[in-house]
Amino acid sequence: MITSAQCLKVIGPPELEKDMVVFDVPTHLEMGVIPKKVYCNKRMVGPLTQAFQNIINRELVTQLKTWDGCFNIRKKRGAGSPSLHSWGLAIDINAAWNGFGKPPTMSKELVKCFTDAGFDWGGVWGKPDGMHFQLSSL
Ligand SMILES: [Zn+2]
Repeated sequence: MITSAQCLKVIGPPELEKDMVVFDVPTHLEMGVIPKKVYCNKRMVGPLTQAFQNIINRELVTQLKTWDGCFNIRKKRGAGSPSLHSWGLAIDINAAWNGFGKPPTMSKELVKCFTDAGFDWGGVWGKPDGMHFQLSSL
């Protein structure tokens, strides 16, 4: 799992927005609530492309209810360290049904679309963050 200390060391302070890119989502992957453009870390482009492709291939597009953001400089919920959203290395989906600290309602199949593509899922953490997927390695 990537830590914020690692991000600071490898990428630098989030305020510099280093390695951030506008990921123009390929037309064939633009569907449902998937945005047309995502402002994210360049390391996310490949894995996100794969996750979106998985969702389409596995016919789970209708399970993607809301896109709840990527880049956002802020502290981790309930902690003092910066969230990986601060480096554009995490995304949130279906937030209304997968609140922080609440039992996640995300289907195993949808979760697997992301974990197969190189993401860690916050839904398995001690205090679950079911909406949250972050890149598993830098
Ligand atoms: Zn998140």
